[in-house]
Amino acid sequence: MTSAKTRWLGVLGWPIEHSRSPAIHTAALEASGIDAVYLPLPVPPASLASAVDGLRALGALGANVTLPHKERVMEHLDAVEPSARAIGAVNTIVRDGDRLVGANTDGAGLARSLHEAGVTLAGARVLVVGAGGAARASVAGLLEAGAGRVAVAARRVERAAEIASSIEGAVSALDLGDPEAMRDAAAQTDLLVQATSATLGERDPAFAASLPLAALPASAAVVDLVYSPRATSVLRAAAARGLRTVDGLGMLVWQAALAFERWHGVTAPVEVMRRAAERAV
Ligand code: NDP
Repeated sequence: MTSAKTRWLGVLGWPIEHSRSPAIHTAALEASGIDAVYLPLPVPPASLASAVDGLRALGALGANVTLPHKERVMEHLDAVEPSARAIGAVNTIVRDGDRLVGANTDGAGLARSLHEAGVTLAGARVLVVGAGGAARASVAGLLEAGAGRVAVAARRVERAAEIASSIEGAVSALDLGDPEAMRDAAAQTDLLVQATSATLGERDPAFAASLPLAALPASAAVVDLVYSPRATSVLRAAAARGLRTVDGLGMLVWQAALAFERWHGVTAPVEVMRRAAERAV
């Protein structure tokens, strides 16, 4: 129920009807007794600047940002935090008085979900497969969480090289199409991060078999950022090898939990958010 004191937040995207964020944040607001609503906000690309002005003018408590606005929104904000700048994208807008500040909770959300699953990140040797926005956030977030070094493998190696050159730290680029180089890298990997969209709806059925999962040490873990399906072909193949697996739902939940804590200044009801996410996927 709303009242004269009800505040509001929302998620800016185009299209937006598939976003799980309204379900996750609405459940969290209710469980925490916060008098606020969280809305899906369909914003066509040409309206992004005025939508951000609208957040200011209409007193939004904060907002999430999703595709296709995560990069372009930065130019319309008053400030962007260094970690979001390193990732090159903003998924969360927080208020600092009258200023709107861009943050990114995707990379830290992945690190928290791996920590929760018992995966050690300190000093870890990481192999990230994919070179899109989720891969970039993973590289920055895992280095921030203490990973020792990260190799980024992409079918367009120049995109991996671009991530390696723009993110500070021990990051190298690999050609996903070079089986020998991939096997060598896998043999020295503690954590493989599947960050392509190939397993989304299993759109590339040959993809899992193309990864060098057999070369990973028996102690390695595999996380797939894709959460639809939750048990992707890559995770099933890794589990069949006896490797520890982590699905992408935890990252979805933790990026939301970290945003919630920034906006509301209280501990996020993570289990409530997880159940809402599970119902929504
Ligand atoms: P992008 O579209 O930015 O990047 C997709 C990447 O996957 C590109 O590097 C692309 O390569 C690569 N790719 C796609 N298909 C194949 C294939 N068959 N073989 C090799 N590489 C392939 O997407 P995002 O980075 O934003 O997201 C990637 C996935 O991560 C999404 O599907 C999404 O479901 C998931 N995700 C999960 C989140 C979570 O909270 N759990 C958060 C964000 C994303 P190329 O450039 O050559 O096409």
